[in-house]
Amino acid sequence: MPPMIPVEVPPTCLGLAWLPAATLRRLTALDDGVYRVVNPHGCGLAIGHAGDHLALVQISGTTGHWATWTTSTGPVTVTTGPFCPDQLPDSGDGVSSYCCLPTGHDGAHDASLCSWR
Ligand SMILES: [Zn+2]
Ligand SMILES: [Zn+2]
Repeated sequence: MPPMIPVEVPPTCLGLAWLPAATLRRLTALDDGVYRVVNPHGCGLAIGHAGDHLALVQISGTTGHWATWTTSTGPVTVTTGPFCPDQLPDSGDGVSSYCCLPTGHDGAHDASLCSWR
């Protein structure tokens, strides 16, 4: 029997962002929001990713709210819009997951930001 090979979980980026208090209140106050939005927000992309950091900070209905930022001391932009409609292939556990990035995103689809979606 071959030795057990541990499952490699790709490390995620260590980028962190803090949203202004007014933005936290606005996102938390959404009628159909699922999260109480608190700081800090960790980047959900794979380590070494290209472009800005990105975190899914709120979901309201079928709408996602993503924070994007370039450096942890710089400004954070919150983008609101529909989720990417692509579904990722079944990874072997019988569960396929949906991409959790905004529609029209760059790069590969990523379900790790909201694996429960
Ligand atoms: Zn990042
Ligand atoms: Zn996608």
